Amino acid sequence: MFFSKMLIPTLREAPSDADNVSAKLMIRAGMIRKLGSGLYEILPLGLRLLRKVEKIIREEMNKAGGQEISLPLIFPKDLWVETGRWDVYGKELFRLKDRKMAEFCLAPTAEEAITDLVRKNINSYKNLPLMLYQFGTKFRDEIRPRFGVMRSREFLMKDAYSFHTDEADLEKYYKVMVDAYTNICKRCGFNFRIVEAASGAIGGSFSHEFMILADTGEEEIVWCNCGYGANSEKAQCLEYENSKENPADMEEVFTPDIGSVEDVAKFLKESPDKIIKTLIYTADSKPIAVLVRGGCEINTVKLQTLLGANEVLLADEKTVISVTNSPVGFAGPVNLKNIQIIADLSVLSIINAVVGANKKDFHLKNVNFKRDFNADIIADIRNVKEGDICPRCKKEKLKFSRGIEIGHTFKLGDKYSKSMNAVYLDTDGKEKFIIMGCYGIGVTRILAAIIEQSHDENGIIWTDTVTPFEVVIVPINYEDTKTKESVDKIYKELKSFDIDVLIDDRAERAGIKFKDADLIGIPYRITVGEKNLALGKVELKFRKDAKDKVKFLSLQETVDEIKSVFKQK
Ligand code: ATP
Ligand code: MG
Repeated sequence: MFFSKMLIPTLREAPSDADNVSAKLMIRAGMIRKLGSGLYEILPLGLRLLRKVEKIIREEMNKAGGQEISLPLIFPKDLWVETGRWDVYGKELFRLKDRKMAEFCLAPTAEEAITDLVRKNINSYKNLPLMLYQFGTKFRDEIRPRFGVMRSREFLMKDAYSFHTDEADLEKYYKVMVDAYTNICKRCGFNFRIVEAASGAIGGSFSHEFMILADTGEEEIVWCNCGYGANSEKAQCLEYENSKENPADMEEVFTPDIGSVEDVAKFLKESPDKIIKTLIYTADSKPIAVLVRGGCEINTVKLQTLLGANEVLLADEKTVISVTNSPVGFAGPVNLKNIQIIADLSVLSIINAVVGANKKDFHLKNVNFKRDFNADIIADIRNVKEGDICPRCKKEKLKFSRGIEIGHTFKLGDKYSKSMNAVYLDTDGKEKFIIMGCYGIGVTRILAAIIEQSHDENGIIWTDTVTPFEVVIVPINYEDTKTKESVDKIYKELKSFDIDVLIDDRAERAGIKFKDADLIGIPYRITVGEKNLALGKVELKFRKDAKDKVKFLSLQETVDEIKSVFKQK
């Protein structure tokens, strides 16, 4: 392949709206172009990269026993009404109408379509288990498209769905898929962690995210040397140790215009850990009181899951006043009537706590759980925070890192088969719901994630496994006969070994070609110039090595060295 014949529009500067390293570098290296917010054109180099990632994923899916299919990108509304997701998915779903005014959506994920396919074509336990997967464009009207193809509105995903007779079979297969995803991450060269995750709009009982460690990641993950890992929004929180104090008598204190935890703590000269925040929420419009230790935050996803509610929101001022008979800032659990009280585990151990008095400008001191107030539900409903102990080993402090989610695996159970009545006949002749798992991985996002992990000031550094070309040959002057002969010879030999080679045949200065090779990030560069050729040598440079670290080798040695790198291909 000749550089001069390809559409590789490299740029010296990234456009000003490119908002992270990978977006900047992919645009500068001529791999993608922006068409509109969250919409990208994939250019030849970009597509070659996607195909490489696809190949790795396809191999792993086939190894896991999957069969590749292709579903439509437009889905009829009816299927989505059956599962209730036409409403639940909200504004992220792109909706459209046909000429007869029938309603459709553009695929953001395909549980409905695949469940429909399976319910119509699988009848018996004899046809299970089954795993089907596809590579398909997905559409999501993201509230904030950003970071190039990392969070775009149209992207390529591999989605897989597995179907089982029972939970035990799903459990067994789920492990196979986690292994397959682990292999994909390893083969892409990722430094990654598998973490427990919240299941979000896809739902189900249990899910894991595959997180690429990168300071620029949108997600926060917590982990421990014992092997525990979780998305911080899902991480389990433990009860705190009891403080060692004797309970004192409750007393009312005057706190004029002082409502926030920090202000109350300062005013009463207490640690925020001594304060119990009482927050009034509405769960599907019904007010509830939620208690958490000052300095901790309520996790609304946990709260929502606990209550099985569709929507949990902080209550407005009017509701707070009507529930507590006081302005915002003075709510407390003592004598709070006619409302469900939900206490986070963090409040149980506080001895002599400070709480709002449900009375303007007053708080209560020396308040103690059980003696002075009670809760209807006690549960883990807060966000994990620095200093918290690992919930698994219960010894070490959790560590916090930033991550990029590239894959998500879910145990769906009967969530979709129940609502869509996808059943099979079991060995006992009885109809049962098919048990499902689903497994998504972002092909386009993987490219961005590799770049976030692997780049330097000169550009991208691709791995041997994911790269648009494995070798770039840079002739100093391709017009020179001897140079051309040598370049063509190396090219032919490497191609015969199935290695992807780009010849930079452009009539540009060597410096410009080197800059572009570094920017594009091809792992091996062979420079062929008249001076070295006179000595029977060419120059071999590894992209990941320092600028001046080059090897002078004969043509054959160069070819042999590169062949040895790719011999496992
Ligand atoms: P996020 O939390 O980042 O929005 P998600 O939980 O919505 O991700 P899933 O529905 O689990 O994502 O989709 C599976 C995979 O698809 C993700 O792990 C990610 O790699 C990819 N993906 C999701 N949304 C986008 C997007 N807007 N742009 C590019 N890739 C995406
Ligand atoms: Mg999302």
